[in-house]
Amino acid sequence: MTTIATLGSHCALQVLKGAKDEGLKTLLVCEKKRESLYRRFGFIDKLVLVDSFLDILDSKYSKILEKNDTVLIPHGTLIAQMSTEQIESIKAPIFGNKWILRWESDRNLKEKLMLEANLDVPKSIPNPKNIKRLTIAKRHGAAGGKGYFLTSSEKDYIKKRNYLIKTGLIKGDKDLYLQEYVMGVLAYLQFFYSPLKDELEFFGVDKRHESDIEGLARIPSQQQMGMDYISSFNVIGNSPMVLRESLLDAVYGMGERFVKASKRLVKPGMNGPFCIEGVYDQDGKFWTFEFSARIVAGTNIYMDGSPYSTLLYDVPMSMGRRIAREVKTATKQKKLDKITT
Ligand code: AMP
Repeated sequence: MTTIATLGSHCALQVLKGAKDEGLKTLLVCEKKRESLYRRFGFIDKLVLVDSFLDILDSKYSKILEKNDTVLIPHGTLIAQMSTEQIESIKAPIFGNKWILRWESDRNLKEKLMLEANLDVPKSIPNPKNIKRLTIAKRHGAAGGKGYFLTSSEKDYIKKRNYLIKTGLIKGDKDLYLQEYVMGVLAYLQFFYSPLKDELEFFGVDKRHESDIEGLARIPSQQQMGMDYISSFNVIGNSPMVLRESLLDAVYGMGERFVKASKRLVKPGMNGPFCIEGVYDQDGKFWTFEFSARIVAGTNIYMDGSPYSTLLYDVPMSMGRRIAREVKTATKQKKLDKITT
C-alpha cells in the first residue's frame, strides 16, 4: 500500500490526517527536536527521525522512503530549506510537479509563468532608479514575507536595503525584487487540479496575517510619521474568507489559465494543489503578485473542509485529504506516474 510522507512542519498534520482518513499509511520525516510534538498524533504511523531535513537526500534515508513505497508531499518548508537542485535530486516520487517548484522560487521565472497564464501582474521595477510610486521590495524564495519593505523613492530604498544588508537578511540588490504595490483586499486562492480527471477544483480562500505591517495599520498616521523603522510582512497565521459569488467565475478562469500555461511551460504542468495570490482592487479586479505551486499553509484552516470544498464533496475534504484521494485513485488505476515526478 502507498504511504503518504511529508516533512514535519508547515501543513504536515493536515496532510497526514487526510491520508489516514483515506485509509493510507503515513510517514513523517521529523527533526529530532520536534519528536515529542508529532508523537501526540495517532494518525502518524511512522516517524523517521533526522537531524536536518536535508538528511533525506542521503541514500540511507531515501532507501527508507523507497522501502515504504512513499509518495512525498512537498510543502513550503521543503522549498524554504532546500535549493531547487536539491529538491529535484530527491529520489522518492514527489506529488505534483517538482520541476515547477523552481518557477516558484525564482521571481523572474514566476513572473513569466503568471504572464503566460494571462494573469494581471503588478509591474515589476528592474532598477531602483525607476521607483516612482509606492513599491514593495521582496526577497526571492519562500521567505514568508520577512524583510520585505515598502518604499517610494530610490533614496529611501537604498537606506532600507542597507539596513537589511547590515542585519544579514540580504547580501545586496540581487536579493530583492521590486514590484508596484497594489492597494486593496488581499486574497489567497487555493486550487486543486486533477490530471486524472482533467478537472480544476476551487478549494478555498484565505487571508494572511502579516507582522508587522498589520500592526502598523492600527497606528494613526501621526504616530507613524516620526518612526524610523522598517516594516516586514512576516506571515504569522491565516484566517478564512469567502468571496462574493459574482467573483467566482473569474477565479475559475484564472486557475484554468494557470493550469494550461504551466502545461505549456513546465511539463507535466501544474498537477495537484496550488495557490494564486494577490489583491482585489476597487473595481474587483484581481492583481496576482505570486503563486505557490504546491499546498499552502493557508489550507490548514480548512482541515474539516471549506465552504467551497463542501460544494464538491459529501465528506469533510481538506486539501491534504484531497491529495491522498488522488494518490489512492492513481494507485488503483496504476497511474501514479501521472501524478508524481
Ligand atoms: P509574496 O512573498 O509575494 O507572497 O508577498 C508577501 C506579502 O507581501 C503578501 O502577502 C502581501 O501582503 C504583500 N505583497 C506582495 N506583493 C504585493 C503587491 N504587489 N502589492 C501589495 N502587496 C503585496
